[in-house]
Amino acid sequence: MSGEALLEVRGLTAGYGGAPVLHGIDLTVPKGAIAAVVGANGAGKTTLLRALSGMLRPTAGRVVLAGEDLRGVAVEQLVRRGMAHVPEGRGVVGELTVDENLRLGGLWRRDRADAARALDEVYQLFAPLARRRRHHGHQLSGGERQMLALGRALVGRPRLLLLDEPSLGLAPRVVAQTMALLRRLRDDTGLTVLLVEQNVRSALSIADEGVVMSLGRVVTTAPAARLRDDADLRHAYLGF
Ligand code: ATP
Repeated sequence: MSGEALLEVRGLTAGYGGAPVLHGIDLTVPKGAIAAVVGANGAGKTTLLRALSGMLRPTAGRVVLAGEDLRGVAVEQLVRRGMAHVPEGRGVVGELTVDENLRLGGLWRRDRADAARALDEVYQLFAPLARRRRHHGHQLSGGERQMLALGRALVGRPRLLLLDEPSLGLAPRVVAQTMALLRRLRDDTGLTVLLVEQNVRSALSIADEGVVMSLGRVVTTAPAARLRDDADLRHAYLGF
């Protein structure tokens, strides 16, 4: 990958209860790139996002965001540094309204005026959320919850968006809209995205770079278009 690196990961090792899952991940994501992390179930994709966002403490390795080593930085501080994680299952609070959920994304921000601007922008971006401002999280459809989780992350004006399975359970039309939106955000705001997806074709269709994981390792990194179009590469690494 070319361009100035926003995220640099070196030798990242992490696991659960002493059982390693990630075995020394090396990864570089340039500023303003969309990188899709793909691979079989259990490859460690979700674990990678957790280790990056501080949900899981790495046992070894280095994560550098915009030139700053994140070792020892507290989880809540990672958000301030620009890391936003939208986990699988999305974490929308069902008992809170759409508006309250979105405001959670900006609670920590000191620049209240910009947090309010970011909230307005999210409502412009996601018209269904603006219409359902006072509805509770549990009243929303799967697609609307996905928008809400993404919107909440965007209210924090992240530099790096870690997105886990945004297409899970969504209709193909909504998946296409979500992917197009990520592309637009990248183009308009320079957002950098690390996207974990089971839906490999959709992910590679919008990504710049494809990162293939297997058994807790990165087995290849290639331009997404090459991974998508080169049958030999696809057979070798993605099994289709
Ligand atoms: P999937 O697409 O199925 O979520 P993945 O590539 O995201 O797959 P992970 O969810 O990161 O893979 O899982 C990698 C390995 O870690 C698997 O062997 C899984 O069983 C194990 N694992 C995941 N979460 C936990 C956990 N909370 N406790 C213990 N082991 C876990």
